[in-house]
Amino acid sequence: MINAILTIDDVPSNNTKAIVDYLNEKGIRVVMFAVGEKLEADPEPVVYALQHGMVVGNHSFSHPDFSTLSLEDGIKEIEKCEEQLNLVYKKAGVERKYRPFRFPYGNKGGENKEALQKYLADKGFNKLVDTQILYPWWKEFGLSKDIDTLWTFDFAEYNIREGSGFTVDDVFKRINDANPSSGASLLTDGGSHIILLHAHDETEELVPEYYKQFIEYLLEHGVNFVAPTFF
Ligand SMILES: [Zn+2]
Repeated sequence: MINAILTIDDVPSNNTKAIVDYLNEKGIRVVMFAVGEKLEADPEPVVYALQHGMVVGNHSFSHPDFSTLSLEDGIKEIEKCEEQLNLVYKKAGVERKYRPFRFPYGNKGGENKEALQKYLADKGFNKLVDTQILYPWWKEFGLSKDIDTLWTFDFAEYNIREGSGFTVDDVFKRINDANPSSGASLLTDGGSHIILLHAHDETEELVPEYYKQFIEYLLEHGVNFVAPTFF
Protein backbone atom coordinates (compact mmCIF):
# COMPACT_ATOMS: atom_id res chain seq x y z
CA MET A 1 0.00 0.00 0.00
CA ILE A 2 1.10 3.53 -0.78
CA ASN A 3 -0.70 6.37 0.99
CA ALA A 4 -0.89 9.83 -0.49
CA ILE A 5 -2.49 13.18 0.18
CA LEU A 6 -3.16 15.05 -3.04
CA THR A 7 -2.62 18.81 -3.20
CA ILE A 8 -3.56 20.98 -6.16
CA ASP A 9 -1.96 24.38 -6.64
CA ASP A 10 -2.83 27.64 -8.36
CA VAL A 11 -6.64 27.53 -8.28
CA PRO A 12 -8.88 29.05 -9.46
CA SER A 13 -8.57 28.07 -13.12
CA ASN A 14 -11.07 27.24 -15.85
CA ASN A 15 -10.49 23.53 -15.24
CA THR A 16 -10.95 23.70 -11.45
CA LYS A 17 -14.62 22.64 -11.53
CA ALA A 18 -13.93 19.66 -13.80
CA ILE A 19 -11.09 18.58 -11.51
CA VAL A 20 -13.41 18.81 -8.48
CA ASP A 21 -16.07 16.74 -10.28
CA TYR A 22 -13.51 14.08 -11.19
CA LEU A 23 -12.14 13.93 -7.63
CA ASN A 24 -15.64 13.55 -6.23
CA GLU A 25 -16.38 10.78 -8.71
CA LYS A 26 -13.30 8.99 -7.34
CA GLY A 27 -14.03 9.87 -3.71
CA ILE A 28 -10.75 11.77 -3.34
CA ARG A 29 -10.51 14.73 -0.91
CA VAL A 30 -7.69 17.15 -1.55
CA VAL A 31 -6.22 20.45 -0.42
CA MET A 32 -6.26 23.11 -3.11
CA PHE A 33 -3.99 26.13 -2.77
CA ALA A 34 -5.44 29.36 -4.14
CA VAL A 35 -3.74 32.45 -5.54
CA GLY A 36 -5.42 35.56 -4.07
CA GLU A 37 -5.44 37.76 -7.17
CA LYS A 38 -7.00 34.96 -9.21
CA LEU A 39 -9.62 34.50 -6.49
CA GLU A 40 -10.38 38.20 -6.56
CA ALA A 41 -10.88 38.06 -10.35
CA ASP A 42 -13.03 34.90 -10.37
CA PRO A 43 -14.00 33.25 -7.09
CA GLU A 44 -16.65 30.92 -8.59
CA PRO A 45 -14.48 27.84 -9.24
CA VAL A 46 -13.28 27.93 -5.62
CA VAL A 47 -16.82 28.47 -4.31
CA TYR A 48 -17.66 25.29 -6.23
CA ALA A 49 -14.65 23.40 -4.79
CA LEU A 50 -15.60 24.41 -1.24
CA GLN A 51 -19.23 23.41 -1.73
CA HIS A 52 -18.03 20.04 -3.01
CA GLY A 53 -15.89 19.09 -0.03
CA MET A 54 -12.42 20.39 -0.82
CA VAL A 55 -10.23 22.35 1.62
CA VAL A 56 -8.76 25.48 0.06
CA GLY A 57 -5.61 27.03 1.49
CA ASN A 58 -3.49 30.14 1.00
CA HIS A 59 -0.88 30.24 -1.79
CA SER A 60 -0.15 34.01 -1.49
CA PHE A 61 -1.82 36.90 -3.34
CA SER A 62 0.34 37.28 -6.45
CA HIS A 63 2.47 34.10 -6.42
CA PRO A 64 5.87 35.74 -5.85
CA ASP A 65 9.17 34.10 -4.99
CA PHE A 66 9.26 34.85 -1.24
CA SER A 67 13.07 34.96 -1.13
CA THR A 68 12.89 38.22 -3.15
CA LEU A 69 10.50 39.90 -0.70
CA SER A 70 11.02 41.77 2.57
CA LEU A 71 9.39 40.14 5.58
CA GLU A 72 6.76 42.88 5.57
CA ASP A 73 5.90 42.33 1.90
CA GLY A 74 5.82 38.56 2.39
CA ILE A 75 3.32 38.93 5.21
CA LYS A 76 1.24 41.31 3.07
CA GLU A 77 1.11 38.66 0.35
CA ILE A 78 -0.24 36.13 2.83
CA GLU A 79 -2.71 38.53 4.43
CA LYS A 80 -4.15 39.76 1.12
CA CYS A 81 -4.82 36.15 0.13
CA GLU A 82 -6.41 35.53 3.54
CA GLU A 83 -8.89 38.34 2.85
CA GLN A 84 -9.91 36.74 -0.44
CA LEU A 85 -10.18 33.29 1.14
CA ASN A 86 -12.39 34.59 3.93
CA LEU A 87 -14.66 36.17 1.31
CA VAL A 88 -14.85 33.04 -0.81
CA TYR A 89 -15.60 30.74 2.15
CA LYS A 90 -18.36 33.15 3.16
CA LYS A 91 -19.71 33.22 -0.37
CA ALA A 92 -19.72 29.41 -0.44
CA GLY A 93 -21.48 29.25 2.93
CA VAL A 94 -18.79 26.90 4.21
CA GLU A 95 -17.14 27.22 7.61
CA ARG A 96 -13.40 27.81 7.35
CA LYS A 97 -12.04 25.20 9.74
CA TYR A 98 -8.47 24.90 8.47
CA ARG A 99 -5.99 27.39 7.12
CA PRO A 100 -3.07 25.63 5.43
CA PHE A 101 -0.45 27.66 3.56
CA ARG A 102 1.92 26.83 0.71
CA PHE A 103 4.75 29.02 -0.53
CA PRO A 104 4.87 29.57 -4.31
CA TYR A 105 7.63 27.41 -5.82
CA GLY A 106 8.07 25.86 -2.35
CA ASN A 107 10.39 28.79 -1.63
CA LYS A 108 10.29 29.36 2.12
CA GLY A 109 11.52 32.94 2.05
CA GLY A 110 15.33 32.82 2.20
CA GLU A 111 16.60 34.90 5.10
CA ASN A 112 13.04 35.46 6.35
CA LYS A 113 12.34 31.74 6.65
CA GLU A 114 12.33 31.57 10.45
CA ALA A 115 10.31 34.78 10.82
CA LEU A 116 7.72 33.58 8.29
CA GLN A 117 7.33 30.24 10.08
CA LYS A 118 6.86 32.11 13.34
CA TYR A 119 4.28 34.35 11.67
CA LEU A 120 2.36 31.32 10.34
CA ALA A 121 2.43 29.66 13.76
CA ASP A 122 1.42 32.84 15.62
CA LYS A 123 -1.48 33.47 13.24
CA GLY A 124 -2.81 29.95 13.71
CA PHE A 125 -2.20 28.55 10.24
CA ASN A 126 -2.74 24.79 10.16
CA LYS A 127 -0.04 22.29 9.44
CA LEU A 128 -1.04 19.32 7.29
CA VAL A 129 -0.62 16.14 9.35
CA ASP A 130 2.63 14.68 8.00
CA THR A 131 3.59 12.20 10.73
CA GLN A 132 3.10 9.39 8.21
CA ILE A 133 6.03 10.69 6.14
CA LEU A 134 9.06 8.69 7.20
CA TYR A 135 11.79 9.83 4.79
CA PRO A 136 14.76 10.84 6.99
CA TRP A 137 15.26 14.09 5.06
CA TRP A 138 11.74 15.23 5.92
CA LYS A 139 12.96 15.60 9.51
CA GLU A 140 16.55 16.55 8.69
CA PHE A 141 15.42 19.59 6.66
CA GLY A 142 12.99 20.60 9.41
CA LEU A 143 9.96 19.93 7.20
CA SER A 144 8.29 17.94 9.96
CA LYS A 145 8.24 21.14 12.04
CA ASP A 146 7.47 23.75 9.38
CA ILE A 147 3.91 25.04 9.28
CA ASP A 148 3.70 25.45 5.51
CA THR A 149 2.78 22.53 3.29
CA LEU A 150 5.59 21.20 1.11
CA TRP A 151 5.40 17.96 -0.90
CA THR A 152 7.30 14.72 -1.39
CA PHE A 153 6.36 14.18 -5.03
CA ASP A 154 5.76 16.68 -7.83
CA PHE A 155 4.25 15.49 -11.13
CA ALA A 156 6.01 18.52 -12.70
CA GLU A 157 3.29 18.47 -15.38
CA TYR A 158 3.38 22.30 -15.51
CA ASN A 159 6.53 21.85 -17.61
CA ILE A 160 4.39 20.53 -20.47
CA ARG A 161 4.47 23.63 -22.65
CA GLU A 162 4.75 24.31 -26.37
CA GLY A 163 8.44 23.92 -27.21
CA SER A 164 9.54 22.87 -23.72
CA GLY A 165 10.36 19.31 -24.80
CA PHE A 166 8.72 18.05 -21.60
CA THR A 167 5.87 15.67 -22.35
CA VAL A 168 3.33 13.41 -20.67
CA ASP A 169 5.92 10.62 -21.00
CA ASP A 170 8.26 12.60 -18.77
CA VAL A 171 5.56 12.78 -16.11
CA PHE A 172 5.18 9.00 -16.26
CA LYS A 173 8.97 8.63 -16.02
CA ARG A 174 8.87 10.63 -12.80
CA ILE A 175 5.99 8.54 -11.47
CA ASN A 176 7.92 5.32 -12.20
CA ASP A 177 11.36 6.54 -11.13
CA ALA A 178 12.62 4.02 -8.56
CA ASN A 179 15.56 6.23 -7.55
CA PRO A 180 14.56 9.90 -7.73
CA SER A 181 16.98 12.50 -6.37
CA SER A 182 14.36 13.31 -3.72
CA GLY A 183 14.74 9.79 -2.37
CA ALA A 184 10.95 9.49 -2.32
CA SER A 185 10.08 7.00 -5.02
CA LEU A 186 6.34 7.32 -5.56
CA LEU A 187 5.35 3.76 -6.40
CA THR A 188 7.49 2.00 -3.77
CA ASP A 189 5.29 -0.06 -1.48
CA GLY A 190 4.91 1.28 2.06
CA GLY A 191 5.52 4.90 1.11
CA SER A 192 3.57 7.95 2.28
CA HIS A 193 3.42 11.06 0.18
CA ILE A 194 2.16 14.56 -0.26
CA ILE A 195 1.65 14.86 -4.00
CA LEU A 196 1.68 18.12 -5.95
CA LEU A 197 -0.47 18.73 -9.02
CA HIS A 198 -1.48 22.04 -10.62
CA ALA A 199 -4.76 23.36 -11.98
CA HIS A 200 -3.35 25.03 -15.11
CA ASP A 201 -5.41 25.85 -18.18
CA GLU A 202 -2.20 25.97 -20.25
CA THR A 203 -1.67 22.27 -19.50
CA GLU A 204 -5.35 21.50 -20.16
CA GLU A 205 -5.07 23.03 -23.64
CA LEU A 206 -2.17 20.78 -24.60
CA VAL A 207 -3.25 17.64 -22.73
CA PRO A 208 -7.02 17.68 -22.10
CA GLU A 209 -7.92 16.18 -18.71
CA TYR A 210 -4.24 15.55 -17.92
CA TYR A 211 -5.09 15.12 -14.22
CA LYS A 212 -7.28 12.09 -14.99
CA GLN A 213 -4.42 10.24 -16.70
CA PHE A 214 -2.07 10.74 -13.78
CA ILE A 215 -4.51 10.08 -10.95
CA GLU A 216 -6.02 7.05 -12.73
CA TYR A 217 -2.53 5.60 -13.18
CA LEU A 218 -1.73 6.06 -9.50
CA LEU A 219 -5.01 4.42 -8.49
CA GLU A 220 -4.17 1.46 -10.75
CA HIS A 221 -0.71 1.16 -9.18
CA GLY A 222 -1.63 0.87 -5.53
CA VAL A 223 -1.88 4.49 -4.42
CA ASN A 224 -4.50 5.03 -1.75
CA PHE A 225 -5.56 8.67 -1.55
CA VAL A 226 -6.03 9.73 2.06
CA ALA A 227 -8.16 12.70 3.09
CA PRO A 228 -6.02 15.54 4.47
CA THR A 229 -6.09 16.17 8.20
CA PHE A 230 -4.57 19.10 10.06
CA PHE A 231 -2.85 19.99 13.31
ZN1 LIG B 1 1.91 27.81 -7.36
